[in-house]
Amino acid sequence: MEESRSLTVDADMATLRLREQVKVPHGRNPVIRPNSDIDGLLECPMCQNSMYPPIQQCPSGHTLCFECKSQVNNKCPSCRKEMGHIRCLALEKLAVSLQLPCKYHPLGCEEMFPYYSKLKHEAQCVFRPYCCPHPGSDCLVTGDIETLLLHLRVHHKVDLQTGCTFNHRYVKQDPCSVDNVSWTLTLFNCFGHYFCLHFEAFRMGTGPIYMAFLRFMGEESEAKKFAYCLEVGGDGRKLTWQGVPRSIRVHHHTVRDSYDGLIVPRSLALYFSGGDGKELRLRVTGRIWKEL
Ligand SMILES: [Zn+2]
Ligand SMILES: [Zn+2]
Ligand SMILES: [Zn+2]
Ligand SMILES: [Zn+2]
Repeated sequence: MEESRSLTVDADMATLRLREQVKVPHGRNPVIRPNSDIDGLLECPMCQNSMYPPIQQCPSGHTLCFECKSQVNNKCPSCRKEMGHIRCLALEKLAVSLQLPCKYHPLGCEEMFPYYSKLKHEAQCVFRPYCCPHPGSDCLVTGDIETLLLHLRVHHKVDLQTGCTFNHRYVKQDPCSVDNVSWTLTLFNCFGHYFCLHFEAFRMGTGPIYMAFLRFMGEESEAKKFAYCLEVGGDGRKLTWQGVPRSIRVHHHTVRDSYDGLIVPRSLALYFSGGDGKELRLRVTGRIWKEL
């Protein structure tokens, strides 16, 4: 795990070095190259984000973003002087005339933006890290797809399966308890992409209901190019669902709460399970395909 991590970092550094050698063509606006000194001037020394008005300045001229000022108890982190209430208008005015690199430039985004458009872009940049898609207790790990795949398998011990069809058995004791059957996650690799099959139980009214849905490890625009179907049944009856996978940018709670998946009410789940209702025994089959 350590080794593959350092490999990724090395590759990133190589890409960065390569990019630094590439000249950015000058357009009508003053264009600066990523990692240049002017870009650095706008970087808050505390949070490393680009500073936006009101940019704060200490009596010696060190700058700091407004959000960080309260976190340093009004003391300049560079010289420890009292910050006071000095605003750095000159830097604010200079910034407006600049084209700046997206903050995800080290992750591969090549775009440059005017000062204010940059923020808007960064909130939607496709190079921004993904959050870990694992539905268990909130995991704070973020990264690109490769990083998350490794993380899911090593840290969360998630199964990875190859192929576009699946056939899963969910067996749980005491099916009346939601806590006992809160979720299961399986990864699928097909069409050169990765998909997360979620199986979750949540409480609705007096008892648990069960839900299965698929998320796509990538952007929503890519996810829409796929479709999937799920089936669960027993004793000659079955429920089917056909849907479109959602991007892992969409939180699994959001998918769940919008019922965008196969929903099995508890009574039906127990009926499909057969037996005496003491055990949940569901077989979920499904398929993923690419829409033309
Ligand atoms: Zn800051
Ligand atoms: Zn200072
Ligand atoms: Zn970007
Ligand atoms: Zn995680």
